[in-house]
Amino acid sequence: MVKKQDENKSMEAPAAPATGNSFHTRANLFDVVTAQLQRGIEAIKLDDDIAAILSQPKNELIIHFPVKLKSGHVRMFKGYRVQHSNTLGPFKGGIRYHQDVYLDECKALASWMTWKCALARLPYGGAKGGVKFNPSEYDAEDLERITRRFTHALGGNIGPEWDIPAPDMGTNSQTMDWMMDTYVNIMSHVDRQAVKRVVTGKSIVCGGSQGREQATGQGVVYCIQEWAHAKRFSLDGATLAVQGYGNVGSNTARILSRLGVTLTTVGDHTGYFKNPEGFNPHKLADHVKKKRGLAGYPGAKAISREEFFASEVDIFVPAALELQIGKDEAKEMTCKVVVEGANGPTDIEGEQALLAKGIDLVPDILANSGGVIVSYYEWLQNKRSESWELEEVQMRLERRMRRSYQAVADRARDLKTDMRTTCYAIALERLRDTYRARGIWP
Ligand code: GLU
Repeated sequence: MVKKQDENKSMEAPAAPATGNSFHTRANLFDVVTAQLQRGIEAIKLDDDIAAILSQPKNELIIHFPVKLKSGHVRMFKGYRVQHSNTLGPFKGGIRYHQDVYLDECKALASWMTWKCALARLPYGGAKGGVKFNPSEYDAEDLERITRRFTHALGGNIGPEWDIPAPDMGTNSQTMDWMMDTYVNIMSHVDRQAVKRVVTGKSIVCGGSQGREQATGQGVVYCIQEWAHAKRFSLDGATLAVQGYGNVGSNTARILSRLGVTLTTVGDHTGYFKNPEGFNPHKLADHVKKKRGLAGYPGAKAISREEFFASEVDIFVPAALELQIGKDEAKEMTCKVVVEGANGPTDIEGEQALLAKGIDLVPDILANSGGVIVSYYEWLQNKRSESWELEEVQMRLERRMRRSYQAVADRARDLKTDMRTTCYAIALERLRDTYRARGIWP
């Protein structure tokens, strides 16, 4: 058993609170992943030495880089890349642009990528990075300058067989296109075609995959379907609350609407809203794209954050920042299931409170793994100079997600434990088997 080692934590404090209207103080995210990991370690009685290795990231990079903005001013930016594990394959994980990015957050998010990839049986390890700034304060021209300069600063720390970034909060396919273009341009000209897969989540014209954009939301929906099937719960006529209406939240709501699920409650950084008749998830997504937030959507009645969590819905999908569901929020919640579209949306006490109330929880490393699964398909297509039809991508994603879900549900019954601990148990067993076979060099 590995004791929580304080030296594993960085000295950098999280920015608290997460949002102006949060009613619980934000914990350190690395403490959350450490506590979750400990449960997994105990569930499979993982060897001490392997537990010690996996309890901290392999590499932590902080870079300060100057960007000459279009105004002519030079501003310094702080960028991060944490590489947690590459035991099962190259480091893999997103790049986040957000004003509150901090080192322990990247460490936690990087380790979640390790468990997520191991659970989905992808030949990848885990990584995560980010740049600490608010992207909505910059226009496309400056975002391009920041992205290119950051990619240049990362240099050889990323690579198509070494560490493969992807979109995350505040970044998108355009960001990935700029990263790819910058990276290939700092390579020797003969290698340029071969290294495009250094990032995934690119636009289709730059080598991205069909289905990548909606993959995370689609994966969340497969999990909801599997849960509903096991519980004999009819999705047709069910109600939904979504927190965060970006890529994951909006795609989840749109795909679920085709299954008869009504979005009645929704929230983001601009406020919380309800419409008992149901929101049109497509029009809402268009509104958010134009107005950069939910506020001002016609027919939406503003409610408080407390009312949002207390709203009577069947399915609750957190798809915003981490640590949004603490014990206070969990106390208010009445849904049947929480399906974590975001990474780390529920803290330790929040999860205990939900489970004690009989609310099911489908954890992030399973629920939102659709994104990195289709990232893997994009990387494979690039590597083989192929381009798959949308149906092919969807069929493969569906098969892999449903299989993962079933493996977790079956194993949870054997282990007599919750789904999150089971996800860790499966992921850790895969890593353990590899470590045992390879040994620790020298
Ligand atoms: N940022 C996404 C995640 O947290 C996707 C990562 C990827 O595609 O590499 O899973």
